Amino acid sequence: MRFDIVTIYPEMLEPFFSFGVLWAAREKGLIEIHVHDLRAFAPDPRGIVDDRPYGGGAGMVMRPEPFFRAVDAITREIGERPYVVLLSAQGKRFRQEMAKELAGKGALTLLCGRYEGVDERVAVMADLELSIGDYVLAGGELPAAVVVEVVARMVPGVVGRYRSAATDSFFAGPRLGYPQYTRPRVFRGMKVPEVLLSGNHERIARFREREAWRKTLENRPDLLGLSIDPDP
Ligand code: SAM
Repeated sequence: MRFDIVTIYPEMLEPFFSFGVLWAAREKGLIEIHVHDLRAFAPDPRGIVDDRPYGGGAGMVMRPEPFFRAVDAITREIGERPYVVLLSAQGKRFRQEMAKELAGKGALTLLCGRYEGVDERVAVMADLELSIGDYVLAGGELPAAVVVEVVARMVPGVVGRYRSAATDSFFAGPRLGYPQYTRPRVFRGMKVPEVLLSGNHERIARFREREAWRKTLENRPDLLGLSIDPDP
């Protein structure tokens, strides 16, 4: 699978993709990640990509042309139009099911905004306007990194054994993952549950299932359709 990210801060993202699971997946040739400098596509020879908002208001807005040109250039490079995602606090909320769907796209291009946001015509051109949560960041780079990592984990072979993604939170519907323990057996008075030391795989599986639902009910009752405030 191929990811292209368009940003005014390419140097910020490259290091993030050079560690851990993403680095290994790139090494194995399971994914490709290309980071593009938006300023290279500016109509202005000085690389200016923003301008004042029509209708007035504080701050600057990113012009549409560089984003359109970047998508055109990526389309030419790969020989087909990628699936284009604009990172935006005004977008649809990113969820694990969406990541599974996006992992099937083959080529994904992520457009990062800055300043007061991006000219709305870019949202019209994009296939999806995507928000990573109900808060506002200063730019689309962290959201793009989040989307790349979450989607890449859904590409078969990227997570060591594909099974380990299948036991993660949200993988099989609205349920969190089960709690994990490792050495030491007792730490500051807290003991590893006995059942995990029993070697009885059936009991362990039942315990984990129960614990996953307990955590979901305790921390995210909203996932179960309950309206208890998780952070009273
Ligand atoms: N004025 C915009 C609004 O009210 O929605 C916020 C602009 S924000 C300061 C600048 C850029 O950060 C956005 O264009 C977007 O690319 C990115 N961004 C901020 N919050 C985001 C979020 N929750 N999800 C995805 N991208 C976000």
